[in-house]
Amino acid sequence: MVELLRASPGTFVTVCVALGLVVGSFLNVVIHRFPQMMKARWRVDCQLLDAPAGTALSKAPRYDLIYPASHCPACATPLRFRDNVPILSYLWLRGRCRSCQAAVSIRYPLIEALSGVASGWVGWHFGFGIESGAGLVLTWYLIALAAIDLDTQYLPDELTVPLLWGGLLLAVLWGRGTGAFPVSPSEAIVGATAGYLSLWCVHQGFRLVTGLEGLGYGDFKLLAALGAFGGWSILLPVALLSALAGSIVGIALLVTGRHKLREPLPYGPFLAIAGWLVLVTPHELIAAWWPFGH
Ligand SMILES: [Zn+2]
Repeated sequence: MVELLRASPGTFVTVCVALGLVVGSFLNVVIHRFPQMMKARWRVDCQLLDAPAGTALSKAPRYDLIYPASHCPACATPLRFRDNVPILSYLWLRGRCRSCQAAVSIRYPLIEALSGVASGWVGWHFGFGIESGAGLVLTWYLIALAAIDLDTQYLPDELTVPLLWGGLLLAVLWGRGTGAFPVSPSEAIVGATAGYLSLWCVHQGFRLVTGLEGLGYGDFKLLAALGAFGGWSILLPVALLSALAGSIVGIALLVTGRHKLREPLPYGPFLAIAGWLVLVTPHELIAAWWPFGH
């Protein structure tokens, strides 16, 4: 099996796409439930803060990534296996629940498709090996983080911090010389630190000048994680690309009246897309556009 995957890039890419579709289905669960779980934990924390010592806390019903099993939010009918096949189930059922006909959000198949395509690209770009393994995990994390930030304007520490540790560990275990992915431990450590500090400085400067909170602390941790995976040399391209994309989208939303000037626009999705693109684009292509080396 390993020999087949190594010898045949087509087979490996197909496996990556299939894996990406299945994981994409799980990412939908993460994106939907993680913010709820976070809020539930905050409620417990608030209770603990105000309660006198020894008070029994009200017990919330179990709710996590595994339990309760996937069900229709409208009628609570559990999904059967054949209703849970990535993308295909949505097409078969024409985007409706089998029992109550409630519309299913188009976002579910879109996330699955995005995960499948991005995973296939990672497999094709890196080929069979540890690079693809790390690239796939990073891809799935970034999809979940970007979607959660879009929904809630929040990048949970429970996701960004393990991603950061993972990037550093990857560099320690499999890091190679300069520039190549996975990067060396020193590139990863400098990348993580500089990633966090650079956005922190931008944030403090912006706050001094305008009195507004432009970025969240989750953004710093996400760029730190990207720096841990790709090393310090990706930080400038990622920062420029995400700022450029964020400005274009922000201005487009302002002009079309979908966004007000003082409303915060989540920056996490732009960081995630820029970081992913810089990491999985062939070096020759970047070198053609990027004058400072990579
Ligand atoms: Zn239903």
